[in-house]
Amino acid sequence: MKWISDLLDIIFPRHCCVCGELLSAQETDICLNCLYALPRIEAESRKDIEHIFWGKIDIERATSYIYYHKGSPYNNLIHTLKYHGRPIVGERLAYIAAKELQESGFFDGIDIIVPLPLSRKKKRKRGYNQCDYISDGISRATGIPVAKNTVKRTISNETQTHKNRDERWKNVEGIFSVAAPSCLEGRHILLVDDILTTGATLASCAKTIKESSNCTISIFTIGYTKTTI
Ligand SMILES: [Zn+2]
Repeated sequence: MKWISDLLDIIFPRHCCVCGELLSAQETDICLNCLYALPRIEAESRKDIEHIFWGKIDIERATSYIYYHKGSPYNNLIHTLKYHGRPIVGERLAYIAAKELQESGFFDGIDIIVPLPLSRKKKRKRGYNQCDYISDGISRATGIPVAKNTVKRTISNETQTHKNRDERWKNVEGIFSVAAPSCLEGRHILLVDDILTTGATLASCAKTIKESSNCTISIFTIGYTKTTI
């Protein structure tokens, strides 16, 4: 009912996650101007993203949706879903991303979506796993089912922020386990995370999955940070 949403907009005005402008009744989370200007990763840059995993883990394909640069106003989108208790923003953003990516054939042949798990401690603290919501958005756009809880994070490792490249890769070794390998056997899995930086955590999870079942893995993240580490 339009009058209810109009009334709610007056009582609880909604603002764009990126520029802070008031949203119209037709807009959700992000205004049309910011949506249009999202720093999308061009198709030709996907090779750079796949290159991150070369020599580390055998993957079918990998991509991210937008660049995540320090100081970019677009980072607010990811902060909102990750730290500000609004993971539904991740679901909706992933839906838009998947709809746009679908035409390129990125999801062709993928059987199942696996969200990168958080440790129990971190999930309890945050109240949710943002990767579950991102996976749900992709699933809504593509019809590919999500398999939550098939992979577990058994070790809650400390932050990667102040570690060098070698330390980052070492810090995440063996932190995952597969709870239901038979669900993944012979499948093409899309492993989903919020931000791709060095790729160490995603590669560690992909390695654990591949060791437990004979499967193919592709990777999707919402944000991508180019790193020199
Ligand atoms: Zn905006």
